[in-house]
Amino acid sequence: MSKTHTPAYDALSKKEWPIKVIGGLTVTFSPVLLEIPGLTHAFTTRLGGSSEAPLDSFNLGRHWPDDASRQDATANRARLCSVLGLNFGHLVVPGQVHSTNISWVSQPENLPDVDGIATVTPDMPVLLHYADCVPIILFDTYTKALAVLHAGWRGTAGGIATKAVRLISQVLNTTAEHMLAAIGPAIGSCCYPTSLEISNQLVASVNQPDGLIAWHNNRPHPDLKALNAMQLIEAGLPKVDIASYCTACQSELFYSHRQSKGLTGRQGAIASLNAIV
Ligand SMILES: [Zn+2]
Repeated sequence: MSKTHTPAYDALSKKEWPIKVIGGLTVTFSPVLLEIPGLTHAFTTRLGGSSEAPLDSFNLGRHWPDDASRQDATANRARLCSVLGLNFGHLVVPGQVHSTNISWVSQPENLPDVDGIATVTPDMPVLLHYADCVPIILFDTYTKALAVLHAGWRGTAGGIATKAVRLISQVLNTTAEHMLAAIGPAIGSCCYPTSLEISNQLVASVNQPDGLIAWHNNRPHPDLKALNAMQLIEAGLPKVDIASYCTACQSELFYSHRQSKGLTGRQGAIASLNAIV
């Protein structure tokens, strides 16, 4: 890494978020988002369920072909909502396709090709799932809008985080300075060698790439979490809270596509605007 980090890069330091066991589930939270009244969120780990290997043990993805695994994932989603006090009957789970498509959603619906959901609807939890890709929860304190995003390298290169900020700003007439974001556990640059072509596409997604690509053994190792955070900082967010966890280094705690060579389950990022009572 470069020794001359820009001020924006210095705003991207990662923190060890608390790991907690709630209702038998092992989850982690963004300390910044926890302070927002009216918002419930969690980032799950692979611990706490009874899903069978290699999906053990709290798999939320319905990507495995057999019916039993799919039913198990649905049951885990219901349990996650129950533990967090969220409305499973209104849960929105898009089918993710490594796009930069973001849908504005006001009621539960089937969204087959979407990697971001934005909403102002209370009591409608949004769940996306991951195994190394970057989970992002975005919240606008001015309009109480919420977005949950899935950013793999394609979504990051395509600027899905920037796109979400722009979408919320345009639809609700708000600005990025009112927004906060949390970037959850994802693969670290330590475990993410890529081709130069992919690295170059990722570099092009930010104005200040200094320090966001490490080099080891003559190969670029992009920091996907920091790249997304930099996009958000450059879009005008005052604060981005980044989890330090690397899903591949800590594969006992998280599902990792790379570490498992593709044979693994999915953890989740879930967020909901609380029901108005
Ligand atoms: Zn790692």
